[in-house]
Amino acid sequence: MKHEERVSKVILRTIRLHLLLSLGILFAVIGAIVMALLPPMILGIVIDTLTTGQALPVFLVILYYIFLALTGITESARESLLTVFGQKITHALRSSLMDKYTRLTTDELTAQEPGTIVSRFVGDVDTVENLFTSGIVSMFADACKIISILSVIWFRNRGLTLVLLVLLPFLFWFTRTVQKRMLAAQIENRQAVGRASGYVPETVHNIRTIHCLAKEDYMEERYDNAIVDSFRAVEKTNFYDAIYSPVILILNAVVVAVVMLFSASGNPAVLTLFGMSAGTAVSVINYISQIFTPVESLGMEIQTIQSAIAGVHRINEFFQLDECSWEKTQINTSHTPENASPCVVFKDVTFSYGHETDREVLKNLSFSVQEGEQVTLSGRTGAGKSTIFKLLLGLYEPQQGQVLIEGMPAAHIPDTDKRRIFGYVEQSFHMVPGTIKNQITLYDSSISMEAVRKTAQMVGLDTVIEQLELGYDTPCTQELFSQGQWQLLSIARATVADPRLLLLDEITASLDVQTEKEVLQALQRSAANRTIISISHRVNAKMGRVIAIS
Ligand code: ATP
Ligand code: MG
Repeated sequence: MKHEERVSKVILRTIRLHLLLSLGILFAVIGAIVMALLPPMILGIVIDTLTTGQALPVFLVILYYIFLALTGITESARESLLTVFGQKITHALRSSLMDKYTRLTTDELTAQEPGTIVSRFVGDVDTVENLFTSGIVSMFADACKIISILSVIWFRNRGLTLVLLVLLPFLFWFTRTVQKRMLAAQIENRQAVGRASGYVPETVHNIRTIHCLAKEDYMEERYDNAIVDSFRAVEKTNFYDAIYSPVILILNAVVVAVVMLFSASGNPAVLTLFGMSAGTAVSVINYISQIFTPVESLGMEIQTIQSAIAGVHRINEFFQLDECSWEKTQINTSHTPENASPCVVFKDVTFSYGHETDREVLKNLSFSVQEGEQVTLSGRTGAGKSTIFKLLLGLYEPQQGQVLIEGMPAAHIPDTDKRRIFGYVEQSFHMVPGTIKNQITLYDSSISMEAVRKTAQMVGLDTVIEQLELGYDTPCTQELFSQGQWQLLSIARATVADPRLLLLDEITASLDVQTEKEVLQALQRSAANRTIISISHRVNAKMGRVIAIS
């Protein structure tokens, strides 16, 4: 069954799961808008009371400060709750992405570039988080703020509302233009800096060639051009930065001046639109400066939403990748092998990779390996030996026939049981970041230090490791061991959990015949009834029964 996931579903689930938090945000957003309207209103009443010569009630002053404080509190509550909610979304999205990642088919998994996966998990998820912390919610809040301020001003001074309605679109256009140009200049600068810093190692690396071909001037000119481009881009950014604030301040002052001039004109016709008391004038001036900020923010919010949409699109694309068709967790794992049952059975297996047009790698293959047996798979290059291992590991399912381990279809063995059932040694060792112990345990805390030591001793690496200053806690680097020793470490990793079945793919490539023989014997000695299937091209390294794959 295909598991259909989408960003929108994850977001709705998170909202439902954190309903209180979501309601808290809604209240904080509305509260912040309403609260911001109240202090200028009270200020207007205070001024009117003073100008008419009446005594000023103390509670009005106190109320003014209370509302001022509440405005700050609701705004910071909104920001904090949004940040928390953004993190919840990030967590939910990354968990869903990880869930998807573990369900990908082997083919999809290998087709993914590591860089692309990282950018889905990090960059794209971050843009969706920004959508909440500084995108749609802030945009909604800003839009509401603009509308509510305009409505309040409408009742106090209609003329000003008309002036603002004419002016705000211009203000928005100006803000967007400046923001877009600044962004373009910043990108230009980053590119130029990237070019300049790329030229340095390139020049140092090719210094001899540059000298031989007398290309010093050419290289210098290229570097100069990049530096000049960067300088010009920074100058452009500074220019837009420098003009923006003064233009906004001047605009603010002009609006105030125009309204004040009209209200002081004495012309009755003008006064029907612009007439107001001193108190109203003060509160209106306050509102004007408040309305400019949300208009400025709207531009940035649109930009955030645009990049978030692209991020959502990319995450949804990832959610649509092919998943394994089998449901591993539904299989009953409490299977107990019958005593007489063979360890591994291939029953009339036909398999081809991926598409129907691919040729059949295995055709009607049947063989079985008894418990405790040691067999070698032999066959020409490309015959499908490693493919047999991939089927045993459950990475692929055969199109026809059955692949059974201890009577259970190999692809249905739950991931959690795999390490106890089989160990797999690849031709090349894949190091994980960490110490020697981490290489062996793969961060599985259920594996004891005792088991690690015993396994290292069995593969014959114990003395080498113990001679190191930090022993098993030595951080691993590629130069720490020879290729053969890495191979032995790989065997230790595969066997430390004491699996009943061992799959060894071409370990002869980097071990001498004697070492391989000793290791194989030690492996079989170390556990009764351990089954070993190895692939080997080297004739004298073949041990036990040989199964020919053609
Ligand atoms: P060698 O002895 O060289 O290791 P092998 O017997 O192990 O060879 P396999 O690796 O099993 O051979 O490959 C068998 C065939 O399957 C080859 O023709 C190979 O091109 C094809 N093959 C292997 N892996 C894939 C894959 N992931 N997708 C498509 N085809 C594949
Ligand atoms: Mg192979």
